[in-house]
Amino acid sequence: MKIINKIIEEFRNRGFRIKVIHDDSIKADLNKLRVRVWITPSDYFPWWSNLLDMVDELELNDINALFVVSERPYVISDYVVNNLSRIRYWFNKELNIKVYAINIDRLEEDLEDGINLVITNFYREASNVALMGSTCPNCGLPMTIMYSSRYYSRRWRTWVNEYVEVCERCKVVSHKLILS
Ligand SMILES: [Zn+2]
Repeated sequence: MKIINKIIEEFRNRGFRIKVIHDDSIKADLNKLRVRVWITPSDYFPWWSNLLDMVDELELNDINALFVVSERPYVISDYVVNNLSRIRYWFNKELNIKVYAINIDRLEEDLEDGINLVITNFYREASNVALMGSTCPNCGLPMTIMYSSRYYSRRWRTWVNEYVEVCERCKVVSHKLILS
């Protein structure tokens, strides 16, 4: 199966709606959470002389997170993250974007972990419920379950229930997986 199709399958498996498909990228939504997945060819390293071109090319203005899928995803995501802080400094332009590095050789596991992180980091955008959760480890009051879903985990090779619980008072955010 082509890499792009595997990526689409992983995001669909987690409840995302696929909005745009190109040869080297997709855009996908989970409620109000918007992500872009970008596959970079093995012999390619991106370079922008005008950093605002990066924002346009990667369409960073209307997403919350960028997944960089590559054989060497860490160098490329570091470069993108450094550029984001330069843009903040030079152009006073704040882009609240998280960048996740996905190694193409561990595609399914890295995507699963990356999606867990993006849902946890952007629980407000991803939120699909507001239920009373377990006790906050810090203040002892009940936390709020902001996100819950069920999916087939590649890592655990079984179905899991997934919860993001939040204590707004203490800024505690926890991502829980219950194997079942
Ligand atoms: Zn608390």
